[in-house]
Amino acid sequence: MTQVRRISDALKVRAKHQCDEIAHDGINRQITYAEWDREADEIGGGLAAAGLQPGDRVFLPISNAHAVEMAIAVFAVFRAGGIACPINTRLNAKEIADFAELTTPRWCITDVSDIVAGLDLAGCWTVADMPRDLTSLPDQAALDPQADAEILGTSGTTGKIKGVVVSHPDLMKGVTGTNMDRSRSTLSALPLTGSGGNLGIVMLPVRGGATAITQPKFDPKGFLDLVREKRPNLVYLVPTMLRLILDQPNVADYDFKGVRYLMTGTAPLPHDSVKRALDLWPHVRMRNSYGMSEGGIGVSTTSVEQVLKPGCVGKLPEHMQLRDEHGKIVTQPGVVGEIYGYQKHPRRYWNDPEATAASFVGGWTKTGDLGYVDEDGDLIMAGRSKELIIRGGYNITPLEIETALHLHPAVQQAAVVGVDHDVLGEDIAAAVTLRPGQTADEAEIIQFCRLHLADNKVPRTLVILDIMPLNPNGKILKKELVEPLTAAARARRKAA
Ligand code: ATP
Ligand code: MG
Repeated sequence: MTQVRRISDALKVRAKHQCDEIAHDGINRQITYAEWDREADEIGGGLAAAGLQPGDRVFLPISNAHAVEMAIAVFAVFRAGGIACPINTRLNAKEIADFAELTTPRWCITDVSDIVAGLDLAGCWTVADMPRDLTSLPDQAALDPQADAEILGTSGTTGKIKGVVVSHPDLMKGVTGTNMDRSRSTLSALPLTGSGGNLGIVMLPVRGGATAITQPKFDPKGFLDLVREKRPNLVYLVPTMLRLILDQPNVADYDFKGVRYLMTGTAPLPHDSVKRALDLWPHVRMRNSYGMSEGGIGVSTTSVEQVLKPGCVGKLPEHMQLRDEHGKIVTQPGVVGEIYGYQKHPRRYWNDPEATAASFVGGWTKTGDLGYVDEDGDLIMAGRSKELIIRGGYNITPLEIETALHLHPAVQQAAVVGVDHDVLGEDIAAAVTLRPGQTADEAEIIQFCRLHLADNKVPRTLVILDIMPLNPNGKILKKELVEPLTAAARARRKAA
């Protein structure tokens, strides 16, 4: 009998019991559990034969167009005893080079060959030509079950991408803890390199026995076509994807009846998206989930009732706390604090003891996220501490202003940042994109904000963009908005 000490052992068990079932459907290619297991063995052996030593990092810049190959490569690395370092191929060359410099991989498997030019590698293969040698597969029982398994990049929303170390015990937690019986197939377009897509989708078939369907590259119409063709019963969407789908001209013509669950997460979920989704698909059980790459701190998830409450991400679980700026636990309803989460085995940042010491303190992870508990004990997100705007001495959370902007019927996406101001310290500036077919001008949207916000929270500067800068995880890249919005605010003040 297979002894299950690592998630790669758990794949072997699934391969015995569900051998001919499809584990991953990457649209371009599908793979059964038995094929996945065999390929992971062959390629794991191939990597070992090439000289991979336990703990060696294997760089995996593999796009979602090769979802099946990503799943094979990650499990092959586990079976070889290495550490998988998946990285999004849509990041820019500098970000990819930075991640390589941080993780110092010796090996690489990729579908974008020019990305790896210049890296000092002992071996590099394309996804079509991974090394194979079953006879060299290391004895799985001799591999350390406590070892590091992966280094996952954070989204880089607030700064440089950090490498979060995920251990084999971390991965095993999900194996024993999740039962996906209710959902036999899931559809998503999450990048398989980030924590949501990697831990949630690549590992999902092993954890829950469900088929993970991955759209090779997100586009809203193609996603709806896949819902029609593949009939998944669970779909995962990040809020920007959901909004783009809801704005498809013929979205109501698509049969969503087979979809029983709609999960969202990774970024704030505008309330009108929830209302519009449930108006269109009233039978769908919708939930919003809060988590982060540093997590393992028991992501909190709403019930289908809580998702109707703006900003809610579920109950504050026992292992999470809100703390004020002096570190004192906040217990009063309505008072905003920073969210901390307790982990028995905290994660760490790879090769960055300083950042690790700042974020992981005595088992507690400092999330950098703000929230409060309402009268019902529900956790309501209030944005990120790094994004707080201090205007004339008052703390203002961009999320509150973005929430007001999303109420405007023409606004599709909204982002608010602080811009330098000589007298106030910082002032509020906003960027929005408009829904297809809608018109509105800057002054009218600012006027609309006056109906929903106190005067000191109304954006003084607002620009309408054709395209919102998004990172590959679909999160708005506010750091790219600061410069143009600062310039727009300056020009506005000069003209006034
Ligand atoms: P970086 O840490 O590099 O700046 P990031 O924090 O966006 O990037 P991730 O670990 O991918 O990287 O994302 C986790 C963050 O996403 C959380 O800390 C939180 O700010 C946000 N988030 C996740 N889920 C939700 C949600 N349901 N509602 C609101 N925000 C969410
Ligand atoms: Mg973060």
